[in-house]
Amino acid sequence: MTAQTMEFKTEVQQLLDLMIHSLYSHKEIFLRELISNASDAIDKVRYLSLTNSGLLEGEGDGKIKIAIDKDAATITISDNGIGMNRDDVIKSLGTIAHSGTKEFIQALKSEEVQNNPELIGQFGVGFYSTFMVASKVTVRTRKAGEPAESGVVWESAADGSYTIDACTKENKGTEITLVMKDDEKEFLDQWTLRGIVRRYSDYIEYPIVMDVEKTEGEGDDAKKVISEETLNSQKAIWLKDKSDVSAEEYNEFYKHIAHDFTDPAKVIHYRAEGTSEFSALLYLPSRAPFDLFYKEFKIGPTLYVRRVQIMEHCEDLVPLYLRFVKGVVDSSDLPLNVSREILQKNRQVEQMRKTITKKVLDTLGEMKRDENDAYLGFYGEFGKVLKEGIHYDPTRKDTIADLLLFESTHTEVGKLTDLQSYIGHMPAEQEHIYYITGASRRELEGSPYLEAFKEKGYEVLFMLDEIDDFIVSSLHTYQEKEFKSAVKGDITLDKENEEKKKEAQEKHKDLLELIKNELGESVKEVRLSGRLKDSPCCLVAGEADMDPQMEKILKSMGQ
Ligand code: ADP
Ligand code: MG
Repeated sequence: MTAQTMEFKTEVQQLLDLMIHSLYSHKEIFLRELISNASDAIDKVRYLSLTNSGLLEGEGDGKIKIAIDKDAATITISDNGIGMNRDDVIKSLGTIAHSGTKEFIQALKSEEVQNNPELIGQFGVGFYSTFMVASKVTVRTRKAGEPAESGVVWESAADGSYTIDACTKENKGTEITLVMKDDEKEFLDQWTLRGIVRRYSDYIEYPIVMDVEKTEGEGDDAKKVISEETLNSQKAIWLKDKSDVSAEEYNEFYKHIAHDFTDPAKVIHYRAEGTSEFSALLYLPSRAPFDLFYKEFKIGPTLYVRRVQIMEHCEDLVPLYLRFVKGVVDSSDLPLNVSREILQKNRQVEQMRKTITKKVLDTLGEMKRDENDAYLGFYGEFGKVLKEGIHYDPTRKDTIADLLLFESTHTEVGKLTDLQSYIGHMPAEQEHIYYITGASRRELEGSPYLEAFKEKGYEVLFMLDEIDDFIVSSLHTYQEKEFKSAVKGDITLDKENEEKKKEAQEKHKDLLELIKNELGESVKEVRLSGRLKDSPCCLVAGEADMDPQMEKILKSMGQ
């Protein structure tokens, strides 16, 4: 069979153009990306071999090899991982195998990404980063468990198309050869590559080796020998002592597992003892991934059992409202051959999920107290998700309520307050926590509903997220104070006035009845109001009616 030429999907070529023409810094990360893929591929074959040992093809240990050929100006990275068949290659290296392709293309064109090209990292574009440094890339690969003749060669110069052909490859796994561009030849140096491996990939579990030439003996006996040297320390970073891990190592490991280019906002590293023993290295990312609200979003840390990777996204380890948490959890107790079904019902896993949830919420509490800026950053990205917990995790709703932030009539524009300080500001006679929902602060600030509150000096929280109304009804109270919507029902801010209002209501009975008759069916009731100061009248929802903001949302959804 002769080689077949195939076109890249449009978005791939767009991505490649962006890679080649606008990414200039940190080009050395191409090596990290290739090593990371090789390590993932070995994880996969290791895991599958637990139930099908033939897949290892007699090669028990994972290994990643780097070879430099100065004359040919090439660097070759090979692994003995799972490998790919033809379909895998076309899917993985010809498209962007991602559910949110539309968003991805939009992002590619957006100014934010054009100005900060490293942001495309969040879309998992690892392999294509090779084209920052290589003029041509050749991939030779053969899937574990399939015959040697079923190998595949893929080749491209990033010029809109690639070729694909069959080959024979004795060993399973993948071998990727980069022909370095003329001005990227500095990478063809063993010391440069060693440095990059140490810096970005030291924690990789499998040995990363390189052939190095050494002179042995002296004088006439001197001879050149080639030997394989291991470049990385291979320590599972999550099993190390905290004091032995540098911030940079933590960050690099995060980028490897989260497929993110940005440093995380927070590292949580601990060992749980007692009923379930496990090590956890968890991260709070600093940016929300674009697919956080998609159904296909992959949830949960990677699960290891005694250093063997079992599952990349173990969704049983975190509640949905903490789905932004990334990392690794390594259990000492679970059996190696756990399946997804077993995990769902496993009490040990349930216990792990509980302690992880508590740990993450405690950490957020500490961040809020001690690292305000970092917390604000986190909240801006993930506050909406965290809030869901108020509704879905009733046992922890008070803890989560402590973490909430809002703008209010008492904050400057763009500044946030929390419920603790709301309670702290309450005048002695104020009984409830008042809030108003809407799409923006500007829209709400002029609201006639707020007049009486302003006059009394009562703070009203602006709830601007769509789900806030939902959250407040789940929360109901905070520190025994009831939440009251500033736009619902009959709000009495003042007991004394209440008496006067009753008298007035009697006195103007006829007038009110007249107005009600005029307006007819379009209103339920006409009454005097204690809430208005400057405006002559306003519409209010009944206590049991839907919040006007909620009504708008449902209407817009066609309900
Ligand atoms: P990601 O690693 O985030 O999935 P990449 O662009 O780095 O994105 O890789 C794309 C896909 O190509 C991988 O998901 C994997 O399926 C496949 N792949 C890349 N390198 C290898 C390899 N060395 N062995 C097996 N599959 C690989
Ligand atoms: Mg990758």
